[in-house]
Amino acid sequence: MSRIALAALAGATIAFAGSAYAQQPDWDKIQIKTTDLGNKTYRLEGQGGNITIAVGSDGIIMVDTQFAPLSDKIKAAIKAISPLPIKYIINTHFHGDHTGGNANFQKDGAIVIAQDNIRARLVAGTTNGTTGNKTAPVSGDALPKETYVGGTKTIEVGGRKAVLNHVYNAHTDGDTWVYFPDANVIATGDVMNNNHRYQQVDFANGGDIRGMIRATNAWLQLANDNTKIVVGHGPVATKANVAEYNAMVKTARERIEKLVKEGKTEAEVVAAKPLADLDKTWAADDQGAANFVKQVYNSFSRS
Ligand SMILES: [Zn+2]
Repeated sequence: MSRIALAALAGATIAFAGSAYAQQPDWDKIQIKTTDLGNKTYRLEGQGGNITIAVGSDGIIMVDTQFAPLSDKIKAAIKAISPLPIKYIINTHFHGDHTGGNANFQKDGAIVIAQDNIRARLVAGTTNGTTGNKTAPVSGDALPKETYVGGTKTIEVGGRKAVLNHVYNAHTDGDTWVYFPDANVIATGDVMNNNHRYQQVDFANGGDIRGMIRATNAWLQLANDNTKIVVGHGPVATKANVAEYNAMVKTARERIEKLVKEGKTEAEVVAAKPLADLDKTWAADDQGAANFVKQVYNSFSRS
């Protein structure tokens, strides 16, 4: 588990790619913090990707499962909200800090739903193109029991609706973002963080900066000033936070795509520091800045 967990942590956001996570987290010390988003909808924060919970009249919908060692704490936090069973869990993407608890929840009877590429990536195991970290294949209850291919899919539990939207090739090739219309809540997965950090584009696993633009454009169309946006990492975001992030990813795409079209190599583009003015706001350090340029550059090797 250690190697898998570390690989997933390193892949979670660029901010985590350095030495801060050189050792395994102390799971015993991690607390699950619950935030009430209104209309029986909640955000759970622990270690790894933020979790969203929507409580219906006879069951619960959950988005993402964090790491397996935290499952009991997460279950206790959900029990404190509602005694009802978890019926459906949506995986926003395959990274282990969002899917690590799948087996522990499916053993209790929940059904994990995900875009079909997630299942394929989990079965095969993966290598991160930036860090080189490998994630081992998983099987059985760790895999989604149901998958969908594209477009949207609506699930309903006890009067609560969750609208799943696949955005092809964004953070990975299996991203789903989820809209809870009655709560005015969007759960984004790792297509966005709200830490003012560049977000990883997992290009070796189908990630592409252009998908991040498509998804954030869609949220800006959908959201109003009261929408609560549960991002993959960081505090709950507003539409204004999405607009700022959307402007950043668009600028990164425009500048780097231009250099790609001029025939520059990856090393030349990284050396040119095309996002130097943005780095002050969005990069934790020089390595984080260079990694993002490399990831955006490699988005264009896909076509
Ligand atoms: Zn991720």
